[in-house]
Amino acid sequence: MGWFSSWTHARRAHARSHDRAARACTGETGAAALVARESETSCANSAERNQTTTTTTTTRALQQCHEQHVLRPWYRDRAVESARSIDAVIVGAGPAGLATAACLKRRGLSFELLERADQVGSSWRNHYARLHLHTARNHSALPFTPFPKHLPTYPSRQDVVDYLESYAREHGLEPRFDTDVQRVARDGERWIVLATNGAWRAKHVVLATGYNRVPRVPVWPDRELFRGRVLHSRDYRTGKDFTKQRVLVVGAGNSGAEIALDLCEQGAAVSLCIRGPINVIPRDLLGIPAQAIGIATGWQPDAITDFIMRMASRLVFGDLSKWGIERKKKGPLRQILDEQSIPLIDVGTIRRIKKGEIAVVPGIERFTERGVLCTDGRAHKLDVVVLATGYTTGLATILAGLDDVLDAKGYPRAAPPEPSSPGLHFVGFANVPTGLLRQIAIQARAVADALGPPQLVVR
Ligand SMILES: Cc1cc2nc3c(=O)[nH]c(=O)nc-3n(C[C@H](O)[C@H](O)[C@H](O)COP(=O)(O)OP(=O)(O)OC[C@H]3O[C@@H](n4cnc5c(N)ncnc54)[C@H](O)[C@@H]3O)c2cc1C
Repeated sequence: MGWFSSWTHARRAHARSHDRAARACTGETGAAALVARESETSCANSAERNQTTTTTTTTRALQQCHEQHVLRPWYRDRAVESARSIDAVIVGAGPAGLATAACLKRRGLSFELLERADQVGSSWRNHYARLHLHTARNHSALPFTPFPKHLPTYPSRQDVVDYLESYAREHGLEPRFDTDVQRVARDGERWIVLATNGAWRAKHVVLATGYNRVPRVPVWPDRELFRGRVLHSRDYRTGKDFTKQRVLVVGAGNSGAEIALDLCEQGAAVSLCIRGPINVIPRDLLGIPAQAIGIATGWQPDAITDFIMRMASRLVFGDLSKWGIERKKKGPLRQILDEQSIPLIDVGTIRRIKKGEIAVVPGIERFTERGVLCTDGRAHKLDVVVLATGYTTGLATILAGLDDVLDAKGYPRAAPPEPSSPGLHFVGFANVPTGLLRQIAIQARAVADALGPPQLVVR
């Protein structure tokens, strides 16, 4: 009876997705949600009556029911019936979308590249001014086009923006701007992509909307009492805006550490909130980028790589516990592989911490009118709190109803499971030890391999 429990599970999951899709379609109000739920019951019953021999068939029946009764009415309402039909739609014109578009173009495939901003590379345009790549330029380029040779090993934010602009020009990519994709749904053998200003039907959809799309903002007690300013790192531009102010940066990821450094350089009184043990690695070892070492030693067992990184870190930084930084039990490589989070790649913050110019404080217990109370019982008076607390993908909204495509944290599963999502691709969502931009180039080529005929144009 194994198939029966799987089927029951599939059916329950399906009922939940109906509910969610119906709510998403109707904004939680009455009729359509009710119709969707009723149709689900009747379809599930008929699927039950026709219990075929395999779970897959039943799951497919439920999926079809979902499309017929929930998704179809949803896009009919929005006059999507006239959607244009093409080979592929790429959502997002950041590095991942541009790389994929360049690869598809070489294969002669027709596609639309949809971008909600009015220029390419909008994430990089909006990052803080001090930012440089922490991966080396010769391991961060998109397919076919290296970064210009005159740039430093770690190009600046503006260099990356310029590179993306010239990449789009060189490859003749013409994104459709101001086009915010709201929903991607199955439409029989094809996919339907619904944006604020149009709709497209395609055999393939590539989601390249970015790993860092929706700011994650933790909830703390009494935050509303605080009289100072609270902003997410997404809205932080430069330390010049905070000179002489008391600023707490929350989060010891790469953004948090570099923003703390920037604030310190610009004359703010900075503290960095590190609530638990972390891994810190130097950006370069004996002048060689840590990323390059990671790539070169990819063949060796993870435990050895972690041991070497640990030794290097100890050699460069010493024991950081006296400055309030405890070492994570898990090594840097295991951290990336298991948690998809990148260790702190130091670009100068640790030196400032050791000099006492950046204070390290533990986690926040609660906010007060004048600042925060930390878990060690100490209160800190503050003017500003910068939340470098990360992002989520926001994919669950765009892919509402496609329950089995995303994991519990909203990231795409490694490979979209059959039969629910053939033709749905993700580029730029896998945090790897060798750098996300490098991985994007690999994934873009892999998507093109999956979609198109052998490459015809060779350069
Ligand atoms: C501060 C910071 C520093 C980083 N430094 C490095 C580094 O040094 N090296 C490295 O390899 N990686 C780095 N990364 C990782 C980074 O995610 C990649 O460099 C790269 O920007 C990812 O490209 P992407 O195209 O996947 O996402 P993004 O650059 O975020 O591009 C996504 C695009 O999709 C568009 N979009 C989103 N939603 C929609 C929608 N619904 N409809 C239409 N368009 C949409 C956005 O407007 C955006 O243009 C860094 C990330 C951050 C946040």
